[in-house]
Order: sequence, then C-alpha cells, then structure tokens
Amino acid sequence: MSKRILLTSLLVTLFVLIFFTVASIEIYHGQTVDEAENTLTAFMNVYESTDKDIRELSDTLDGARITLLDSNGAILDDTGGGEKGEVLTDDEILDAMKNGTGIAERYSADSAETEVFMCKSTEDGYVRISVLIPSPSTMFVRALPMLTVFIIIDIILCLLFTWLATSFILRPVKELAQASIGNDKKVSVRYKELQPVADVINQKNDYVRESQNSKDEFISNITHEMNTPLTSIRGFAELISSGNMDKAKTVKAGKTILRQSERLSAMITQILHYSAIDDDRLTPYEVNVSTLVREQLNSYVPLLKDKSLTLEEHIEDGVTVSSRRERIVEILDNLVSNAIKYNKQNGKIIVTLDARKLAVEDTGIGIAHDELPHIFSRFYTVDKSHGENVGFGLGLSIVRKICELSGWTLDVDSTPGEGTKFTIGFRK
Ligand code: ADP
Repeated sequence: MSKRILLTSLLVTLFVLIFFTVASIEIYHGQTVDEAENTLTAFMNVYESTDKDIRELSDTLDGARITLLDSNGAILDDTGGGEKGEVLTDDEILDAMKNGTGIAERYSADSAETEVFMCKSTEDGYVRISVLIPSPSTMFVRALPMLTVFIIIDIILCLLFTWLATSFILRPVKELAQASIGNDKKVSVRYKELQPVADVINQKNDYVRESQNSKDEFISNITHEMNTPLTSIRGFAELISSGNMDKAKTVKAGKTILRQSERLSAMITQILHYSAIDDDRLTPYEVNVSTLVREQLNSYVPLLKDKSLTLEEHIEDGVTVSSRRERIVEILDNLVSNAIKYNKQNGKIIVTLDARKLAVEDTGIGIAHDELPHIFSRFYTVDKSHGENVGFGLGLSIVRKICELSGWTLDVDSTPGEGTKFTIGFRK
C-alpha cells in the first residue's frame, strides 16, 4: 500500500510539475514575442527618423538585423548577410506588401532561437527588422537544472507524504485489525470514518460468538440427553453380564436395553434432521401443500386409533408455497405427532390449510403459560422426567428453524387442560 501511495503521488506530482513548467514556458515565450514586437515597433520608428547606414543603425539597436528590400521583395542590403538580389517571400514581407506592415516569428535553426520579424513598406520598397528571442526548447533546456532540483524536492516530499499517510492513515486501520482479533471484546475506533468498519467487525464477532455459544450449548445438551438412556443400558448390561439375574428379569432387562437403544437411535435421527435443516440451502420450488398435507394425514390414521382420536381436516384446494416437500412434511410430522402425543383419550385434532396459513389444533393437555416462550428451544421439554415416553425437545425447534429459513411466522396458542394450536403464517 505504501508503495502504491508513493508511486501515485510521484506520478501525479511529476506530471503536474512538468505540465506547469511547459505551460509556464509557453506563456513566457508568448510574452517575450509580444515584447519583441513592441521593441521592433520602436526600432522601426528609429529607422524612419534616421539617415544612418543600416549597419551603424543595427549596432545602435542592440545588433537587430536590418534588411532592405525593393518593391518586389528582392534584397537590396542585409546586415544579416542575406544575398543581394534574392527575392524573399516570407509571411511578414507578403503581409507588408498587402497591408503596409507585416509581423511574423520563425524558429532559426542556426541560432536555435526564435526570430521575430517586422516588415514595413517604405518609399523605395520595404524594410525588415528582426530580433532574436529564446525559443521554447531553449527555455526548457535552460529551465532543466531548476526542474531537476524541483523533481528531487518532489521525490523527498512524496516520500515524506507516504510516510505520513501510512503512519497517520493506516495506523488506525492497523489498530482496528489488531483489535478485531478474537471475538470477545467490542471493537471501538478513534475516527468516526472507521466506525462502519468497526460496526461490521462487531456484528461479525457477535455472530461468531452466538454461533459458538449455541454450538457449545447444543453439544452439552446432546451429551446430557444421551447420558440417560446410556446409563440405563449400561446398568442393565452389567446386571446381565454378572449372571446373577433369573431368566424373567434378564428378559425384562434385555427389553429395556432394546427400548433405550431405540430411543437413542431415534434421538440421533432427530439430531441429524435438525443439523440437515440448519445447513439446508437447497433451492425452494412451488409445492402443492393441499395435496401433500392430505397424503401425509392419511399415514397417521393407525396412530389416531390408539387414543381414539378424531381428525378434522379443513383443507383448501390448490394451496401452493415456495418451499421443498421435505420441509412441509417435517413441519406437519412434528406438529401432528405432538398433537397425538399430548392429546387426551377421545380427543380431536383439527388441521386447517388455506393460502395464508397452516394450523394444527388439538384438544390435549395444553401448555402452561410460562412454558410457552421456551417450547421452541432445542431440547426443551415441559416434562423434565426424561421418561421413556417423553420426547427429546427437538421437534418444535426444527419447525421454528424451517419457518425462519422460509420467512414464515410461527405462533402458538394454548390453554392448559383444553388444548393447543400451532399456526404457521405464509405471509402472502
Ligand atoms: P418433544 O419431542 O418433547 O415433543 P417438541 O420440541 O416437539 O419436543 O416439543 C417441546 C415441548 O413442547 C414438549 O416437550 C411438550 O411439552 C410441549 N408441546 C409441544 N407440542 C404440544 C402440544 N400439542 N400439546 C401440549 N404440549 C406440547
């Protein structure tokens, strides 16, 4: 970065320096030509008011070249050594022939200077006086030593500027980068211009911290939840392997081990489901929810019979949402299984679907008011007994995750002892 600043400042300042030198030379040269023209007018006046020989006069006029021409432009005499009789057709002469006076300037290769000419008609023909002034290239060569000094000063100033820029501008950025290492503390800045960068770093750090905490909590919950069935399996396995149990107790212990390992495996499946949904970035497509919900509800019929539950369906035809089949199945499966699990004997389950919402309502045990804010948290179960029939507390967190990813709302309304209603708003 400092190299870039140095290079850019050098290029810009060198360009400006050279541009201004050339421009100044051009302006100065223009002024010198104007002055030369004034001088020539004065010389012309002197010529007109004197009878001196032109060589004598030239000495008096600082060595100005005087050329006398006949009415055709042929040289009669020339202090500059022009050949007598040679006919000149230079601009100033042609102008003088036309208008009485002519002025022109030309680069003189012999002297490497600019020659300014003034020609005027006289009684016998024409007189032309010229003076030499420095040409722009000569001026540039003369300015070169000064320009070199300026370029050296410029390089020193640019180095100084780069050093200042890197120390004063980049130092706060370096400090910011240093402060952003680690996610623990809030990054603060001295300069308000850097506040947006600090805000982004703080947001990112908050996110990383939250994800880390959430991951730690998730792992600790999983370990805790798995410990219960594992302890039970281990206890019964030890009893069986001691060989001190009679056959009936051994069979009972074996059944418990089987149930607990099934529970463990069900839990692992749920955890896998949860993490699959957490990482699910698959592209959504239009799903016909009406057809899908009807299909899915049929598969619950055997489970409904166990508790003699009635299923009421209010499903509008042709309801579609932008989602994926497996997400809708996951939501419905969790909500309906809970409505069955937490229902009373001879209870009712009402499933409503229209373009704006999907609702699953039951006439079960309900949820206490103070439990409601927690039921969507991972591994949260109202019944903390960890009994064999109690769930793992992942179902509703999966439903919430899908709703969050889809931009849907998720509401719960429950009255203990009367029932619960979960509503998903498609926000249409
Ligand atoms: P679980 O696997 O325990 O059912 P969920 O995440 O699905 O986990 O539900 C979390 C808690 O919310 C449950 O333990 C239960 O106490 C309560 N709950 C969920 N649905 C209902 C319902 N329909 N009726 C009563 N309680 C419910």
